[in-house]
Amino acid sequence: MAQFRTIAFQEVLKRKPVKVEAPSNEVTVYFGTKVFDLVKMEKYLSKEAYRAVRKAIGEGGHIDRKMADQVAAGMRDWAIDNGATHYTHWFHPLTDGTAEKHDGFIEFGDFGGPVESFSGDLLVQQEPDASSFPSGGIRNTFEARGYTAWDVSSPAFLVGTTLCIPTVFVSYTGEALDYKAPLLKALSELNKAAVDVCHYFDKNVSKVFATLGWEQEYFLVDEAFYNARPDLILTGRTLVGHQSSKDQQLDDHYFSSIPERVKSFMEDFEIEAYKLGIPVKTRHNEVAPNQFECAPIFEEVNLANDHNQLIMDVMKRVARRHGFQVLFHEKPFGGINGSGKHNNWSLATDTGVNLLSPGKNPKSNLQFLTFLVNVVKMVHDNQDLLRASILTAGNSHRLGANEAPPAILSIFLGSTLSKVLEDLATNVPKKKMSPEKKTELKLGIGKIPEILLDNTDRNRTSPFAFTGNRFEFRAVGSAANCAAPMIALNSALAVQLKEFKKEVDALIAKGLKKDEAIFQMLRKTINESRNILFEGDNYSDDWKKEAEKRGLTNITSVPESLATYFSEQSKKVLIGGGIFTERELKGRVEVEYEKFTKKIQIEARVLGDLVINHVVPTAVQYQNKLIENVKGLKEIFSEKEFKEQAGDRLELIREISDHVSMIKGMVYEMVEARKVANKLEDEVEKAYAYDREVRPYLDKIRYHVDKLERVVDDELWPLPKYREMLFTR
Ligand code: ADP
Ligand code: MG
Repeated sequence: MAQFRTIAFQEVLKRKPVKVEAPSNEVTVYFGTKVFDLVKMEKYLSKEAYRAVRKAIGEGGHIDRKMADQVAAGMRDWAIDNGATHYTHWFHPLTDGTAEKHDGFIEFGDFGGPVESFSGDLLVQQEPDASSFPSGGIRNTFEARGYTAWDVSSPAFLVGTTLCIPTVFVSYTGEALDYKAPLLKALSELNKAAVDVCHYFDKNVSKVFATLGWEQEYFLVDEAFYNARPDLILTGRTLVGHQSSKDQQLDDHYFSSIPERVKSFMEDFEIEAYKLGIPVKTRHNEVAPNQFECAPIFEEVNLANDHNQLIMDVMKRVARRHGFQVLFHEKPFGGINGSGKHNNWSLATDTGVNLLSPGKNPKSNLQFLTFLVNVVKMVHDNQDLLRASILTAGNSHRLGANEAPPAILSIFLGSTLSKVLEDLATNVPKKKMSPEKKTELKLGIGKIPEILLDNTDRNRTSPFAFTGNRFEFRAVGSAANCAAPMIALNSALAVQLKEFKKEVDALIAKGLKKDEAIFQMLRKTINESRNILFEGDNYSDDWKKEAEKRGLTNITSVPESLATYFSEQSKKVLIGGGIFTERELKGRVEVEYEKFTKKIQIEARVLGDLVINHVVPTAVQYQNKLIENVKGLKEIFSEKEFKEQAGDRLELIREISDHVSMIKGMVYEMVEARKVANKLEDEVEKAYAYDREVRPYLDKIRYHVDKLERVVDDELWPLPKYREMLFTR
């Protein structure tokens, strides 16, 4: 076994589960201790300041400078009481992950000595240099400044000795450079549109907020193996590696007992999560070996997303204490399942109603159906936008690549609900309704909860499934910032609800009763969008054909998908809906093109190095051994016997030569393709060139490397193998 691999293997064999102790066996004792939440605010703030913050949270508003000073002082005192020395504005730039720049509380006071200080100005706004964050041409070099501003709706928290303040990140000229600013806009638009629609049914509703419960899938790999795999370190996925003889065929990993070392890692990061107020609830093994999942209790979208970004950080940090590396990449290992991040999503009112949950009477069920049907129409009209929001270089290995949700968007409602919609589409008369007809329709609707209860059918192949009281957007990738799909989804629904309301109001103005106007619009909306509904197997080839017949789009290329951000419909939602300016949208999509290009570029470079420095020399070394062997055989055997004895080895020598020259030739071609692509000035053209001309080499080269792995002496092979990384723990 090659040296690195041997050392790694020995290290892994020595590992023991790390002992983990919770502060208490009752989570409530330490839940949220590291969060500056309302309870702590009440203690550390003046009544006046506390009320101002509460009001700002409730109404999504701002607090003035004078009040900010008071809040900052209270926040600082709490942080210092809990061991903090530094603070940072914590934000979500358009890269993967979050960003922070730490500053000490220390300042020189009036008399020259150091004091612990943190003013309202520093709390509310800061000006980090924006020039190193992607902006897609928005940021001019002469105006590199950007600023971060406090998001009052997400509480500050402590990580180690640093107070982290969730913020939005915008350019000096006011354009969003992050995920949070547009997300907050989308949620606020949705709130307005949804409240208006709720008022058809209940005047008491004054706020509607979207809820998100993410399910984070991930792989664990031992740190020693990880460090011996340059591809994992630099790209987050294995670019080569022959499949293990056994992987997930037996389905023996999903929900099976969790290995001890992994369990103590889970306990450890869950404790950290609880302290940070992240309500993690579920943990289990996933389908692939060494694949796991963690899911919290759902929360309001913005907070839930902050928590998701935060927990990804926490998991990475805690994993190292246990000798693990967490892989959030969507496809770390070829040939076995990749990782997703299902976004469970719904809408809740401040009156405590889940708008996507069937109600108790005909009226609340009509409200439920109204929102449900609008979601269906929204997905139908915005297939491309939704896909564009989640189709990244990493996720493209899942979507459309014979695994978990295809790149075709469709909705699964379950047979009961599909039938209800079908009935509405056919039974609502086009002309004026008789009172009897109305009663009949309402009675039918009133029965929904009963039928739904005993019809909990599920479809795990659907990219967008209704699961009883929420939708589950299952196509989202494990590495994603949920804000991307949440911006698309919520802003698109806001636009859809506004259009729906406009038409209902028009019918009412024409003299129709409210209920009847709604029935009419439901029928129309269902008819316009029902071809997005699909109950069958989304992985099947038949569905691809059927979807094409229905006119649904199926885009698997990232650059092609990104182009749909500029379709009429996407612009109507994002620009017309007030989420982005034209310039912001252009900048943002350009960042996505750049990100895609760079990811493929890095993968291509790493693969080139890996095969030329690791794989080819190893193959040649083994080949030399074989040649020596053949020479020896020739010495001791007669010509006739030699032919019998050495035939297979000669064959192997030739096979190795073939693979090596194929690899070398293709690496050369790949480098040339990269040179051509790199010369392209236009980011879009460059992304296409990388997608079409460079990317195919990754698989083609890998094919030959994996063949070599199978024939080369295991003693010599330098890279930890799949069976080792996936099964040793
Ligand atoms: P499954 O694997 O069966 O989909 P999980 O329990 O793993 O179920 O995940 C379900 C997720 O859905 C949890 O995060 C849960 O909090 C979330 N969820 C439940 N109700 C809602 C809702 N109304 N809005 C958003 N998310 C929800
Ligand atoms: Mg799920």
